[in-house]
Amino acid sequence: MKLEVNNLSFKYLNSRVIFDQVNFELEKGQILSVLGPNGAGKSTLLNCIGNLMTPQKGKIRLNGEAVDKMPPKKVAQRIGYVPQIHIPTYEYTVREFVVMGRTPYLGKMRSPGDADYEQVERALDMVGIKHLIEKPYTQISGGERQLVTIARAIVQEPDFILLDEPTAHLDFGNQIKTMRLVKKLAENGFGIIMTTHNPDQVFYTGGFVALLDRQGKLHCGVPEDILTEP
Ligand code: ADP
Ligand code: ADP
Repeated sequence: MKLEVNNLSFKYLNSRVIFDQVNFELEKGQILSVLGPNGAGKSTLLNCIGNLMTPQKGKIRLNGEAVDKMPPKKVAQRIGYVPQIHIPTYEYTVREFVVMGRTPYLGKMRSPGDADYEQVERALDMVGIKHLIEKPYTQISGGERQLVTIARAIVQEPDFILLDEPTAHLDFGNQIKTMRLVKKLAENGFGIIMTTHNPDQVFYTGGFVALLDRQGKLHCGVPEDILTEP
């Protein structure tokens, strides 16, 4: 399974060009870290790849199939999106929060069943927090919330997972836990794209980097090439 991004360009109404003719490809099991300063456009790029925003130009393909021609539900099944963590208004338990990740499979008409809740347990086990399953999401720590949010993305068994600044609000210990998990997910065959403004994270995750500059150019490759001053 391959994710291909070709000539992708984006600007907001009245904004500068956020990214311009971006190209890269990623296979399952690989990690790509999208690096750049705050405001560079990393989240915007991730949103476009996750089919949450529409780029003005370019194509995203999953195994050769154009994502904008696929039913959005099918795209959501193949590409899991992990937004920055937030605290929801309602008192969901971890189980209820994670089962929401099954929505692309369930549709509007079907409620989650036993098989879906078994998937929830498997996902929580994979991220190492099965013991929190009955806890209200609002009562777990920031680090735990990040892991639960990742579980919600993998519960639908996607091929690719997009993580938006997964370590942004975490202390150093929880940053390391999250980065170890990202590595484990890649070893389990998920393709990972994550954004970060911290180049140090590449030490933990390895893989490829894509540096988004202020001109909207994306420089992709191995860290030794991309992060070394010429
Ligand atoms: P990053 O994730 O790298 O911090 P973002 O993708 O969030 O960057 O934002 C990129 C740029 O686009 C920023 O300058 C931001 O202010 C701008 N921006 C974000 N959303 C909008 C919007 N809805 N309309 C106009 N400009 C936006
Ligand atoms: P972090 O350093 O990750 O931000 P927190 O200070 O948020 O950690 O949480 C520390 C511990 O307190 C966690 O084990 C969490 O389960 C518990 N906790 C957090 N928020 C609440 C809450 N609203 N009610 C009860 N326990 C909470």
